[in-house]
Amino acid sequence: MRSDEQAESENARKDRGSDHIQRRARRDAYTIAALSILVVLASIQFDAFDRIFEFTERHESWELDEFLSLFVILALGGLVFSARRWSDLNYELARRKSAEERVHMMAMHDPLTGMANRRKLSRELERAVAGHAPFAYLAIDLDHFKPVNDLHGHATGDALLVRVGQLLQEIAGETGLPARLGGDEFGMLIPCDQDELAVQIADRILVALSAPIELSGKICQIGASIGLALAPRDASTPDALMHRADVALYRAKSLGRGRFEAFEPGMDVRLRERARLEQELRDGLRLGQVEPYYQSLIDLETGEIVGLEILARWRHPSRGILAPVDFIPMAEQIGVITDLSAQILRQACNDARNWRPDLSLALNISTVQLRDPWLAERILQILLETGFPPERLEVEITENALLGDLDAVSSTIMSLKNQGVSVVLDDFGTGYSSLKYLRDLPFSKVKIDRSFVQSYDDNEESRLIIAAILGLAHTHNLKVTAEGIESDAKRDHLREKGCDFGQGFFYGEPVDADAVNALVNGAAETDKTASIRESGDTAAALPAARNRGSAS
Ligand code: C2E
Ligand code: CA
Ligand code: CA
Repeated sequence: MRSDEQAESENARKDRGSDHIQRRARRDAYTIAALSILVVLASIQFDAFDRIFEFTERHESWELDEFLSLFVILALGGLVFSARRWSDLNYELARRKSAEERVHMMAMHDPLTGMANRRKLSRELERAVAGHAPFAYLAIDLDHFKPVNDLHGHATGDALLVRVGQLLQEIAGETGLPARLGGDEFGMLIPCDQDELAVQIADRILVALSAPIELSGKICQIGASIGLALAPRDASTPDALMHRADVALYRAKSLGRGRFEAFEPGMDVRLRERARLEQELRDGLRLGQVEPYYQSLIDLETGEIVGLEILARWRHPSRGILAPVDFIPMAEQIGVITDLSAQILRQACNDARNWRPDLSLALNISTVQLRDPWLAERILQILLETGFPPERLEVEITENALLGDLDAVSSTIMSLKNQGVSVVLDDFGTGYSSLKYLRDLPFSKVKIDRSFVQSYDDNEESRLIIAAILGLAHTHNLKVTAEGIESDAKRDHLREKGCDFGQGFFYGEPVDADAVNALVNGAAETDKTASIRESGDTAAALPAARNRGSAS
């Protein structure tokens, strides 16, 4: 704000300076012209020319005529010089004025998109507040812009921002003012007395920005999160209004992005709590509080443990052991999921040194991570560092990760596959993926979502879906894992239907590395657990967790 005012007064000062120069030049010109006319008139009145002529005639020897001619030539030259100076001055002033206008324009607009910038928006918000008419402010943040930049380069990123600017301008129409605040942050002022219009506009922005955008042959898939605040209802100063819209935006992001939220009182408090938890997670990661737990994956035919799924747990200093649902989405939002994932994979690879060398490890990868073009390299780097063979690693991705930029996702899947890592389609049946993905992408396994397994007994539809998934997967030579097996009866059913692997509380809940150590060291242990299980003891393959994490 301060620098805004300073720039304003600077401009006003320059304007006053130019006017002053122009006025003085004009005054000088008028004075010279008036004096000249006066001299000519006086000369005519007093016959000055005749007298001078006579005088020079009389004193021919003085050669006054040469002096007079010189004087006339000098006067004419002076006139020409003055006229030139006058036109130069006007030209210079016009040039200065247009340069000043350009500077002014640059100070108020974003150079890349040509949209209003933060300064201009603040000024317009101030005007709107002073006008006392109600209006809405939208804080708009692009989702998944960074991966586009990383993947397609900055030129495409820039072109995308320009396109976003055009879309926002179209949606804002004549009355609204969209602005780019920096990076992938935008704002929009909308004059409106109820939130309805603002809500409609927010909806239109969400629709427009979630559609794929094509830029010189490249398809970019972004999205937007939007926070909405109304003046004077939510705040009565531009700063407070922008802050409240940001709070609502934050809420929209924490609810999973791609949506908009209107500001509500109380959001502030939740925001502060959330900010604290975020800081605790960052610190927790640094202090190694996030660690891998493991749940066994069982071959349903033999009843043997064939691998362990890595499930993240946060050993929170005051809240106890937290389940992924309490921190994984947050880790994705605040951009620490890459570190988190690397940390638990590294830890798991180290833990696995103590285990039977045939056991596989399964790592969950979230959608956000799949958009990271360096994902495969990051994973392979850790395998290399810890000496864990890529052939023993499975990466689990959910169906929904396949929505969006499929090209980027499939190239990540291909590079993992090429290095020997298998890729598993997790939570199958819950998303929108189609046959096409099973056919086109090199998955090694699908995992039937546990909701179908759990409703198997009393839901005909679930039974049909499981049968369909099994048929589909087996025709594509994919193995099938059933998740969420909680009883021997369910295990028997699923085995009969043709499921290859099983996982669930019947075999054991997720446990920490020590508990796995105790269990899987050597074939003798496995036989023992198998015999416990065969004898009908549901304590089964993995013992109850020490510090068990809350499973959803
Ligand atoms: P998921 O990949 O589907 O993992 C299986 C979840 O089901 C685990 O929950 C597990 O404890 C629970 N579960 C296993 N068997 C049973 C059962 O018989 N009954 C019931 N009711 N639940 C069972 P958890 O550990 O809370 O993990 C939840 C989700 O969090 C996981 O679902 C996975 O998508 C995600 N997740 C876990 N760790 C990570 C991680 O390191 N990175 C990422 N990106 N996501 C993770
Ligand atoms: Ca999983
Ligand atoms: Ca799953």
